[in-house]
Amino acid sequence: MKIIAIYPGTFDPVTNGHIDIIARAAKLYHQVIVAVAVNRNKTPLFSIEQRVELLQQVTSHFDNVKIIGFDNLLVDCAKQQGANVILRGLRAISDFEYEFQLAGMNRRLSPELETMFLTPAEQYEFISSSMIKEIARLGGDVSEFVPRSVQQQLLEKFNRG
Ligand code: ADP
Repeated sequence: MKIIAIYPGTFDPVTNGHIDIIARAAKLYHQVIVAVAVNRNKTPLFSIEQRVELLQQVTSHFDNVKIIGFDNLLVDCAKQQGANVILRGLRAISDFEYEFQLAGMNRRLSPELETMFLTPAEQYEFISSSMIKEIARLGGDVSEFVPRSVQQQLLEKFNRG
């Protein structure tokens, strides 16, 4: 059986933490589909097209990773893509409650889909897209936390390029 994992998120923008999870997943699953949510609740800094493009750039060396955008229910998107696993990253206990609830709800909606969790290497545990945006907005150095192309896009966004 082919195991296809769908890794959903906002990825606003992709960080080294996300990439660490993608790299681990690419070794475990036949295919990894990174699904970028349009996310109408969050008002992302980067457009869906920019978020997809940045992910494509930074994952181009994986031959079993594909990037898509989606705007429908995750379980429906997973079915359309033929995925049998929903993948999420866990950083700290603080992530757990929300992730547990999400996994439970997705199981109710689609019992045949399994949610699996991976943890990043410890140097990435404290990285979040929202913190990166805040640091970049205030002129801090984010080069340690995101790929170069993302850093450049952040500098442009905040007119510091
Ligand atoms: P969402 O808005 O769905 O939480 P994110 O883009 O913030 O989207 O995160 C997508 C997934 O990646 C989530 O499962 C999140 O917990 C995980 N994630 C985010 N940052 C990291 C990180 N530094 N290390 C590991 N997993 C992470």
